Amino acid sequence: MSANILESDSLHEECGVIGVYRESMDAATSVYYGLYALQHRGQESSGIAANNGGSISLRKKLGLVSEVFHGSHTLSGLNGNIAIGHVRYSTAGEGDVRAAQPLVARCKLGDVSLAHNGNLVNSESIQDMLSDSGVIFQTTSDSESILNLICQHGNTRGIEAGIHAAMGLMKGAYVLIITVGDQLIGVRDPYGFHPLCIGKLSDGWVLASESCALEALDAEFVRDVTPGEIVIINKDGLRSIEPAHWCRKSLCVFELVYFARPDSVVDGVSVYDFRRRCGALLAKQSGVEADMVMAVPDSGIPAAIGYAETSGIPYGEGLIKNKYIGRTFIQPTQEMREDAVRIKLSTIRQNIEGKRLVVVDDSIVRGTTCRRIVGHLRDAGAKEVHVCSASPAVRYSCYFGIDTPYREKLIAVQKEHDEIREYLGADTLTYLSMENLASVCEGRDCYCKACFDGNYPMEVPATARPSGFVKEGR
Ligand code: SF4
Repeated sequence: MSANILESDSLHEECGVIGVYRESMDAATSVYYGLYALQHRGQESSGIAANNGGSISLRKKLGLVSEVFHGSHTLSGLNGNIAIGHVRYSTAGEGDVRAAQPLVARCKLGDVSLAHNGNLVNSESIQDMLSDSGVIFQTTSDSESILNLICQHGNTRGIEAGIHAAMGLMKGAYVLIITVGDQLIGVRDPYGFHPLCIGKLSDGWVLASESCALEALDAEFVRDVTPGEIVIINKDGLRSIEPAHWCRKSLCVFELVYFARPDSVVDGVSVYDFRRRCGALLAKQSGVEADMVMAVPDSGIPAAIGYAETSGIPYGEGLIKNKYIGRTFIQPTQEMREDAVRIKLSTIRQNIEGKRLVVVDDSIVRGTTCRRIVGHLRDAGAKEVHVCSASPAVRYSCYFGIDTPYREKLIAVQKEHDEIREYLGADTLTYLSMENLASVCEGRDCYCKACFDGNYPMEVPATARPSGFVKEGR
């Protein structure tokens, strides 16, 4: 069991992707730096594929970027003016290097490499279709099916036709970075569930899941890739292919609530500002009297600051996060798992003792970690603990690339509001209301909020399973 148990009360992003096109032959080095900036989107595996005149070399392994690429020798074989990279959050049973990305295939188009973020809702039917045509799979991942689809349909008609054909068949969430021949290609699904932005380097281009990766490369932000758009970069510059399919923007609101780094700007929205505004509205909703507002670090911090600014209650630190717990943290017994929260988050007793606390977290999924935190705060002498979630109650599973449990495991499905408060051991419990979330979204109907309200932007087939659920065979 890994340190991920510590995160088991949060939803998980499944991937971060990046592609770099340069005049020089060291595009892989830029991708390496960019992957560091995207590490929060996935910590189980890391990989880079470099394209040198159509010939692709690859390094990928289980581990953090710093573990997979340690020392310059680990980048030395990755030559080429185009490179793509991937970080992945994998679920139990999928911690297999074969599922790590980028994927590389050889077909009539030549060497093709692909990095994917997202989840298809019709993956079973696509895998069946490909299997019927003789395709043999090495993994259960959607990404392998996507690469096969593109190669199969592009073999005789070219890469653009292959991507168009695949987009016509795929349903669900996908951001793709592809390299083949002398091209770097970015694709965003017609709903735009997950972000993809374009940056300009002095001698080339960057495509990345988040703008924080552009900062890391000193690239100038150009714009976001629009839903359904394909962008193709080669020696002639950047060319956009307008969506060939019907589009309805449905950006995953959890990108803003939790996943994206606070210094990123996603589809024109500052992640930090979004969270701060959620906190401000939460303060108006909650209205409790308290001595200090504190965050569950790190994702709760901007909302806690917004809460403190609006309520006038001072902001302070009550929990310190240990940033040095690695992936291999072993927790063999239930008792040790209980201790894990104490090891990851320790209390600052002198800030807590005798105080009435407002504790702001980004969300509550299963409630297990939140419950332990409330217990630790009480052990440290807190007089009152008022729990505030800077997003509404999570009531539905995600099918679009965010690792969520089955509905039955969600605490807001299992229990009524007051039962949840009691389970957490809190004096009061406030969730950001759907109305206030909508107002932070500025009323724009361009977000998926389905894990809160169950209104999935597309039909989810009965055979689809929540993202992250490991399929048992085919
Ligand atoms: S269901 Fe929730 S987590 Fe999934 S894409 Fe929609 S908002 Fe994001």
